[in-house]
Amino acid sequence: MTTPKQQFDRLVKTSNLTMSKRIARLKKIKTVIIDHTDDIILALSSDYGQRCEQETRVAEIMICIAEINHTLKHIKSWAKPKFSGAGIKFMFCKNAILPQPLGVVGIIAPWNYPFNLAITPLIAAISAGNKVMIKPSEITPHTADIIAKICSLVFKDSEVAVSLGELEVAQEFSELPFKHLLFTGSTAVGKIIMKAAANNLTPVTLELGGKSPVVIDDKYDLKKAAKSIIGGKFYNAGQTCIAPDYILISKNRKQPLIDALISEIKKCFNTILTSPDYSAIVNKRHFSRLEKIAQSCDSEQCIWPLGDTKDTDKNIFPPLLVDNPTSDSPVMENEIFGPILPIISTDSITESLNIINSAPNPLTLYIFSNNSQFIDNVLTNTLSGSAAVNETIVHFAQDGTGFGGVGESGMGSYHGKNGFDTFSHLKTVYYQSRLNTNFLVRAPFTPFKKKVVKLLSKL
Ligand code: NAD
Repeated sequence: MTTPKQQFDRLVKTSNLTMSKRIARLKKIKTVIIDHTDDIILALSSDYGQRCEQETRVAEIMICIAEINHTLKHIKSWAKPKFSGAGIKFMFCKNAILPQPLGVVGIIAPWNYPFNLAITPLIAAISAGNKVMIKPSEITPHTADIIAKICSLVFKDSEVAVSLGELEVAQEFSELPFKHLLFTGSTAVGKIIMKAAANNLTPVTLELGGKSPVVIDDKYDLKKAAKSIIGGKFYNAGQTCIAPDYILISKNRKQPLIDALISEIKKCFNTILTSPDYSAIVNKRHFSRLEKIAQSCDSEQCIWPLGDTKDTDKNIFPPLLVDNPTSDSPVMENEIFGPILPIISTDSITESLNIINSAPNPLTLYIFSNNSQFIDNVLTNTLSGSAAVNETIVHFAQDGTGFGGVGESGMGSYHGKNGFDTFSHLKTVYYQSRLNTNFLVRAPFTPFKKKVVKLLSKL
C-alpha cells in the first residue's frame, strides 16, 4: 500500500494542470459521478446502515454537479489576470492580480457528507490547476472507496491521489508539506491539523462546526418556522454542520412553537423506525454520545414526538425536543450533531443576543422574521460564519457565494470563486510604463526633488 508520503513525492514532481486539462477533468468527473450515482448511494447506505436515498442524491450528488457546472461556466474568467490602474502617483503604470496554481494541496474530509465534502473542495482545487491529495473519513470506508474509484477513472495518478486508511494515515497526511490544506471536521481536530500544518508553514482553510442558533421574532408564523427548522434539523438525522442546534424564542411563544415542531415532526416522519426517509446515526460511538446527551436532560424536559423507542441495531435515534435546558447542561455545551433540539425561552431579543454572543462564534445563524429592523439587529450584533433568513441549510447550496466559518467555527472559505481563490496564489504584478518618473523620489535629493517629495507625501 502506497503511503501518503509516497503519493505526495510522486505528485510534487509533476506539472500543474493547464486550463484545458482542468476543464477536461471537470467535465469528465461530472460524467463519472452521474454514471456512478447508484454506487454512491449504495456506498453511503452501507456506511450508515440506513441513509435516506433522496438526501444522498441532493446533498452529496446534486451539490457536486451544481458546483462543477458553476465552475465550468466561470473558470476562464476567474483565471484571467485582473488589471487595475496604479493611481496618480504611478501614472500610466498598471497592476495585475495573476492567479496561479499552488502545487500539491491536501483535502481532509469528514463522515457526515463524506462524498460532497471531499469532491466539492476537489473541484475548487482542480479549477485552480493544482495537484490534489484527499484523505476521506475512515468512518465511512465504502464512500472512501468510491471516491478513490471515481478519482482513478478521471485523473492520472500524477494529478490526484486518494489516501485510504485509518487515523494514522490521517495523521501522516496532515504532516505533509502541502501548499494549502483544506480540513473539514470538528473544532478539536481542527486545532491538531493547524499545529501539524504550522510546521510546514502550510496555510489552512478550516471548515469546522459549532452550535448554530435559531432566533424567531415575535410576529413570525410559527408553523412556517417549524416547517423549515424541522426540515433542516432532521436532514441526515441532525448530522449536519449547519443544522439548527438550538432555538431562542420569547417565553409566551415557546409552547406554541413546541406544538408546531411536534406537529411538523409527525408529518415528516410518522413511521420513524421503518421510514427510509430518516437516516441512521453513523455508528455506535455517535449513537451512545447522543444517548448520553438525552440521559443528561431532566425527563420532564424531554419531549419525544414519535416516542423514545430507538433501534439500537440500526442506530435509529428518534427526534427529541428539549424544553428549556439550562446553559450549563450537556445539551448546551457542545455541538449536538444529532436529532436533539433544545428550545430556550428568553425575555427579550437582547437576552437572545447575549446568549449567542457568550458562546463561540457559530458556523451559521438562522433568523425567522419579516421585520427588517429585527433582522439587521441580529445580523449586525452577532458574528457567525454565515446566516440565513427564513430558511435553514439551503444557503450551503447557493452558487457563487463562499462558505466558511469564523472564530471557533473555522477560517477561510470555499465554493465558487472563493474556492478557486483559496487554492490559488493571487500574485500581484506591477507593470512600469515607459515614462518612468520614479527617479523623482530617489536619491540624490536635489532641492527640486525635495519639493516634489514634500508635495507627494501630502497627496
Ligand atoms: P473529525 O474532526 O473527527 O474528523 C474529520 C477528519 O479528520 C477525518 O477524515 C479524520 O480522518 C481526520 N482526523 C481525525 N483525527 C485526526 C488527527 N488527529 N490528525 C489528522 N487527521 C485527523 O470530524 P468528523 O467527526 O468526521 O465530522 C464532524 C465535524 O465536522 C462536526 O463538528 C461538524 O460540524 C464538522 N463539519 C463541518 C463542516 C463545514 O463545512 N464547516 C461540514 C461538515 C462537518
